[in-house]
Order: sequence, then C-alpha cells, then structure tokens
Amino acid sequence: MLALSVLCSQFLLSPLLSAQARSAYALPAAASTVDDSKQPQLQHFDPDLADKSLDPCDSFYKYSCNKWLTANPIPADQVYWGTGSGLELWNENVLRETLEAASKSDASRTAAQQKIGDYWAACMDESGIEAAGLKPLQPELDRIAALKSKKDLTLAIAHLQHLFPGAWEFGDNQSNSPFFGFTGQQDYDDASKVVGQLDQAGLSLPNRDYYINTDDKSKEILSKFHTHIQKMFVLAGEPESQAAADAGVVIEIETAMAQVQMDNVTRRDPKNINNKMSLAQIRELMPTVDWDAYLKAVKAPSSEHYIVTSPNFLRAEDKLINMHPLEHWKVYMRWWAVHRSAPLMSKAFVDENFDFFAHTLAGQQENQPRWRRCVHNVDRDLGEALGQAYVDRAFPPESRARTIQMVHAIETALSADIQSLSWMSPATKDQAIVKLKGIEDKIGYPSHWRDYSSVKIGRDNFVSNVAQSSSFEFERWVAKIGQPVDRSEWTMTPPTINAYYDPQLNTINFPAGILQPPFFDPTKDDAVNYGAIGMVIGHEIIHGFDDQGRKFDAHGNLRDWWTENDAKQYDERGKCISDEYTQEVPDAGTGVKQNGLLTQGEDTADNGGIHLALYALETTLKQQGKSLDDKGPDGWTYRQRFFLANAYSWCSNVRPEIARMLVSTDPHSLPVFRIDNVMSNMSEFQQAFGCKAGQRMVRANACRVW
Ligand SMILES: [Zn+2]
Repeated sequence: MLALSVLCSQFLLSPLLSAQARSAYALPAAASTVDDSKQPQLQHFDPDLADKSLDPCDSFYKYSCNKWLTANPIPADQVYWGTGSGLELWNENVLRETLEAASKSDASRTAAQQKIGDYWAACMDESGIEAAGLKPLQPELDRIAALKSKKDLTLAIAHLQHLFPGAWEFGDNQSNSPFFGFTGQQDYDDASKVVGQLDQAGLSLPNRDYYINTDDKSKEILSKFHTHIQKMFVLAGEPESQAAADAGVVIEIETAMAQVQMDNVTRRDPKNINNKMSLAQIRELMPTVDWDAYLKAVKAPSSEHYIVTSPNFLRAEDKLINMHPLEHWKVYMRWWAVHRSAPLMSKAFVDENFDFFAHTLAGQQENQPRWRRCVHNVDRDLGEALGQAYVDRAFPPESRARTIQMVHAIETALSADIQSLSWMSPATKDQAIVKLKGIEDKIGYPSHWRDYSSVKIGRDNFVSNVAQSSSFEFERWVAKIGQPVDRSEWTMTPPTINAYYDPQLNTINFPAGILQPPFFDPTKDDAVNYGAIGMVIGHEIIHGFDDQGRKFDAHGNLRDWWTENDAKQYDERGKCISDEYTQEVPDAGTGVKQNGLLTQGEDTADNGGIHLALYALETTLKQQGKSLDDKGPDGWTYRQRFFLANAYSWCSNVRPEIARMLVSTDPHSLPVFRIDNVMSNMSEFQQAFGCKAGQRMVRANACRVW
C-alpha cells in the first residue's frame, strides 16, 4: 500500500530502476496472435527441471531451481534473471513491433498511434539527441538561474514537480518529488472522497538509510554519490570546482531531509500517515511556501481537508529552507533537473547516470539496449495507449475467462478458510466475509482507456515529450480532488508483469502482462496454473487481510472491524512471520539482513496465498473426480506439481548489490525466502515430499496467519 492507496505488488521491482535495470521472469509461448517465430522464447514449466541429486526437504528452492539457475546466469545488462525474465523480453518485443509500426508517419494513424509512435521515434533518435546536447534542458536551468528570492520558490517547486514521471506517486519509502509530494488520493477515513495529500520529499538515493547509516559500505556509496553528482554538474556545464562544492550542497540538503523522513516501517501503518489537516494548519506547518499560489499553480481543486503523511518532515523542511541561502536551493533544483533528465539526454549523461545508479548501486554491468529502455519509457508515460495494442495481440478472451474461474475458486477458498479459523471470533469472521465479498476482481486491462488527447507529443524532443506526459499525469491526479472516485482506474499498465491489491478501492488487479507463461500458461493443467498464477492471485487477495489491509473495511475506509482479542491473536501470528523473516541474506555481504517488519505484509500474503491456491486446486480436482495425491502422466502427483510450479515461477539469480538494496527498500522478501520460508511453514508441502521433523523444510515453530 503506502502513503498512497495502492501497490501491494507481487514482484521484485525497484521503482528507482524502472527504466534501467528491472526485469522479471520467463517461459512457454502463449496462444496468441503474436508471431512467436520472431519472439524471444518463453519458457514452460517442466517438472524434470527438479534436481533429483538434491534433497527437497533441505532447500526446496535449490531442489526446484538449481538446474535452471546454473543454466541461466544473469545477462550483463540485468540485475537479476529469473524464469519470468524471458516473458519480460517477450512482452517488450510485442510492444516494440507495435511501436515501430506506429512510428511510421502516415496519415492513417489514429491519435493514439501518433502519440506512441512519435514518442518512440523521438526516444530512438540517438543521433538527434546527441546533437542537441544540453539544449533540451537549458530552459529549465535558465529558469532556475533566474530565481531572485525565496519568494520565487513556491512557483519553482510547482513547476519542477510537473516535469518528472511518477510525481504523483508516494512510494514505500518516500515520494517521487523534490521538496514534497502532492497528489489527489482517497481519504483514509472516507474512501468515497478524494482529498489533497502531501508527502515527504523524494531523495536521489533509494531511501534514508543510504544517507544516515554509518557502516563502511554505506559511507563508500555516499562518497561515490558525491563524485557522481560532481560529474553530472560538470556535464551540465559547471566548472570542476563549483561542481564539487555543489555536490556537497546536494548531499548536505538530502542528508538533512533523510534525517527527518519517516522510515519505511513506520510508514507501513496507515494510522501513522493519516494526519488530517486544514489548509490553515498546513500554512502554519510550512509557512515558507505560499500555499494558495502553489495550489493554483498545480491546478488543485479545493479540498475538504488534506492528508499530510509526515508533518514532522514538512515542519523540519521549512526550517531547512530558511537555514540555507537561495543559492543552495538553486543547486538542489538544478540537481533535480539534471539528475531526472539524465536518462533522456546525450550519451555522456546516460552513461554517467547508469554508472552510478545501475552499476554501483545495483550491480548491473551494462546498460540495456536502447530499444528496451524506450519501450519502458512509452509504457510508463503513455501506458494505456500502448497497452490496448498489447491486449489485442497477446491476451485472448480464453485466458481472461480461465483466470476469472481461478480467481473465483480462490475467493471461495478464503471464505472456507475464514470460517474454519480457530482463533477468530464469529463477529470478526462475519466482517471478514463482508470484506471478502466486497473485493472487485479486475482482470487483464481497464474497462475504458485513458484519454491522452491533451498530451502534446512530437518526434523531435524526447525531454519535452517526457515532461508533457509527466505533467499530464501529475495534473490528472491532482484534478481528482473533490471528484467522485473512479473505481475503474488501474495504476499498472496492461503489459506489466505484476499485480496489486488496492486497499482503498478493495480491488485485486492482474494486468494481462502477468497472465502469460510461466505464471499463467494456457497449455498447462490446473496443478501448474494454481501453483504459479494461483499463488499470485491468493497473495493479492490476502493483502486485503495482511497487517495493513486488515485495517481497511469492505468500502476501503480505515476502520477497525476487529474485536480486541481477535486483533491481538492476529498480531501474535503476524509477529511469528516477522520474526521468521528477519534473517541473514546468503551471498550478499556480511550483515545484510532482511527486515521482517518491512516484509511482514508481503510474507503474510505469500504464506496465505499459497494455502488458498492449494485449497482451490484440491476443490477443482475433486470436481474432476481426482485428488491431490493422484499421479499425473509424468509420475509426479498433482500436489508435487503444484509446489514445483510455484517454486519454478520464482527461480531467480540475483546480484548481491541489488539484494543489498532490496532488503532495505523493498517490502518483498528475496525469492529464495519466498519459497523456503513458505514451504517450511506448510505441512501440506512436507506431505508432498515426505519431509520429516528435524529437516530444514520442516520448521519447528511454523507460522500461519491465513
Ligand atoms: Zn504483494
């Protein structure tokens, strides 16, 4: 969830790396209108990939993944590589074909084709971008240079926030905006209303830990960050000595902001971020900003009240603005302009940005080919225009129908699970069932497509295209304030290999991009599909009932529907999970540990989700006159195939650098734990592979919430 409403996503994707260094999994070819002969190979689950020389009861992850991991090292331009990575490449190829066709300027193009096609052409025009040099950024640098007094800051902040993708997003760790984040979002106490919300500033590094931790590795990264900022300022035309001093200013300001940011574990509890304030209170909290002018500049409708996720941050930032001279704030804004535009500019900027953010921070060896970066950019900025073509080409109605069937079976499984719980009182059970029945299932793509007609896209200025579409998205979110909630909206694009639960809409969302092999495989039987995508479906449903989701009711209001004793029972079970997942990460350097308090919601969803998927499979098999322990044609039982397919969908080689980043910033556990911890909590797994007490995959104090 987050400071915002959404995004209990399923995968290991760091927003920081979005266009640079992310990727997912891979397997078999989907039945579709895509010409697969021209596509990268999707992979399909094959139980023979299990390494029978290993003991499934020692590490089921190794047993299931060892052969695949050995045969599939991480490509130089990736930070991890898993069984879903081929799917990512496959999806991107489908999108690339669409974009190449749309980029041929002819009169017959639709308005949507013109936008995605010209955006693509401008992004792919490397020589044009090279020739333009600093020119596309110069107007922004000039604008910052022209600021005369701190009174000018308000409008400068509003302007700057329009320029960058994702400015409306409040992430797990921080917002995505300089100074502070602003957007329109559902009210926590009354989900039928949209109100203005303010969040803490985004930092350049993944979260506050990078600025305030004092271990050697953190100090080394911060020092390399200093060098990087300096190099970027030189590229932007500053003399060496000024660039060095300016880098120091950026680090000083961001470190001061880091110190007063709310940390990501505190941020997980919606009560901590639900701070309702009037405009008068905000003016008092942060008087250096002229709030009337700001709200006018971002075209914000008037809001009944505002939610301020972290009042302490804004209060402290106000002091910070007063403490530093205007010249320092110009440096800070110049850094934002240069840093956030770097991936869009000439090779020198792209390379230096890659070298620090992808190579040093995440361990990526080489940048992805330009076409892949451009596909990511179009998907991010004009995703629903591009997504329509993806759905037409790659998501047949049969895939949607079969997914819906599985979703219903899994929802029925949770209903039975709730009824059977020994620790929950009938009163809370009734409420839980009401919430479950209130979940809306959204499968594949939105019921209507976003209208981008007001976004101006040309063929010759990539920086401007990104600013235009970012500005459109930012203002679109702000304009929601005071309007009725649009329940049909998605916050992931159709080709995304991910899924989410939205606690304030009470919806589960599965984009077409993940309803492909190896997650959903139309060529495979139910045991395989429930093990892979079924577990993902169960996972998202359980998010409605994890340590965050359980605090929202069926209508998406932050309202306590638990009896005191049931809540206590829940917390004890949740603590079992968070204790279990606080553990060392093998091969990621000494002292690198997962924080079970950060990952508790995702771990609860993993553990609960697989139970639901297995139960739904059992029921489905029963309807076919079969049982879990019957053997299929390949000699494995359905139960075994279920667990093997589940583990297989998670097999991933992960670079140690990115592992180190993820444990501090990502609420998901690393893949090895998403298999071994989950299975070692499950007697149903131990039964499948004959594991005995005392073996690693049989946990003495197993955890179970759902
Ligand atoms: Zn999740």
